Amino acid sequence: MRSAPTILHLDMDAFFAAVEQASKPSLRGKPVVVGGLGPRGVVATASYEARVHGVHSAMAMAHARRLCPNAAYLVPRFGLYRQISETVMGLLAEVSPLIEPLSLDEAFVDLEAADSQEDPRAVAVRLRATIREATGLTASVGLAGSKLLAKIASEKAKPDGLVVVDPGTERALLDPLPVRALWGVGPATAEHLRRAGIATVAEIAHAGEHELVRLLGKAHGTSLHAMAVGLDNRPVVADRDVKSISVEDTFDHDLTDRAQVRHEIDRLADRCVQRLRGAGRSGRTVVVKVRRFDFSTLTRSETLRAPTDDPVVVRETARRLVDGVDTTGGVRLLGVGVAGLADFTQEDLFAQSGGDPAGLPADREAPVAPPSPERARTWWPGQDVTHTQYGPGWVQGSGVGRVTVRFEVPADTAPGRVRTFVMDDPELSHSDPLLPVPRVLPEPLPQSAQPPEPQPPEPPSPSAPSRATRSAQPAGHSPPATSPKSR
Ligand SMILES: [Mg+2]
Repeated sequence: MRSAPTILHLDMDAFFAAVEQASKPSLRGKPVVVGGLGPRGVVATASYEARVHGVHSAMAMAHARRLCPNAAYLVPRFGLYRQISETVMGLLAEVSPLIEPLSLDEAFVDLEAADSQEDPRAVAVRLRATIREATGLTASVGLAGSKLLAKIASEKAKPDGLVVVDPGTERALLDPLPVRALWGVGPATAEHLRRAGIATVAEIAHAGEHELVRLLGKAHGTSLHAMAVGLDNRPVVADRDVKSISVEDTFDHDLTDRAQVRHEIDRLADRCVQRLRGAGRSGRTVVVKVRRFDFSTLTRSETLRAPTDDPVVVRETARRLVDGVDTTGGVRLLGVGVAGLADFTQEDLFAQSGGDPAGLPADREAPVAPPSPERARTWWPGQDVTHTQYGPGWVQGSGVGRVTVRFEVPADTAPGRVRTFVMDDPELSHSDPLLPVPRVLPEPLPQSAQPPEPQPPEPPSPSAPSRATRSAQPAGHSPPATSPKSR
């Protein structure tokens, strides 16, 4: 615990949903829910307008739809979120060299490691303003003498606020909070404590260390009691070493066909390699995870002679591994990962991936239905599209052979017009996302050498023609009058 509030925790407000609102003028001020749209989908992020109806992240999408039937339900656009995240992390790096990212939209910053001895509050005020200017989005910030309190403070600051925990006020902030506010207290521990009559952080503190150890065991009990009385000396750790990168999908219907399983494995392998390359890494061990119809979960791995980032190698290894698993009863979930990560040594990495964009299909986190030839083109709500006549827009909905598109771009100040097309309208194609603000700060250097994110999500069918169509188009969006200068 430090004597000055020099640990900063920053958290973007309703990040995915806020990006969608900034990108889509017709959704500003409206309830927006981003997540998996299949029958087993869950909410990734809900806008504040949706939260007032009780919708929150990790909730089943079907439940969210019952609570807030009028919200816009959209698939995530991770490529765009990552791009904006890089801008935000770059701005944090200007404040201090010591940053610990926790997710795309959340990080700790150690202000003691900064050159300037500027007042932490002034740094936080400026940081929030700069992020807003650069991304068009709001961030909440907590400042405290420990990580625990900084994180609790940013939560308290939401949305679009700043909370500073001055020395001496820690207990006043902690005491009334429910036990779940502390790190390491999940539903099971909370229930255990509740049965012992402990519901708040103050009650943990009053119970004393001895009682906590009796209830939860030595390690957990001791650390929980220390946190409850405000003792937290964990340092901000830059570059937490990532040991593996993996992706997985839960399917709407159990996969029973061997060919489907292989197809999904290929798709996951490609997505995994895309992530791997995005992180500038390669890895030696390929891991496959299979959850079967009865929830039995198996992992199989194979270690290669040398690190790889080659989609063909990962695909073939993953296929071999999944072929060794009995999947006859049906498969509920598949995952592919690469572990044993190494930094790249190949100098031609960027040339390599730049020269073969088609080798890496789009990242797609939304649960997908098994592929079938008759749905060669899939239009998910929220996806970016462009029409040869009407220009850029996004899919508002689709069904019974039709797709509805709203033609608007982030720079528009009023909602755009809606038009409906037949699903296979040749003038309509998937397109790259537009940044929500027409101006971006200079990108962090390593990213500038990377090829553009392969977007958008492709239909699962291997016969989908749209990639070829898209790569033949000029890189820019039309009309130029409303397009951002920089993407
Ligand atoms: Mg957030």
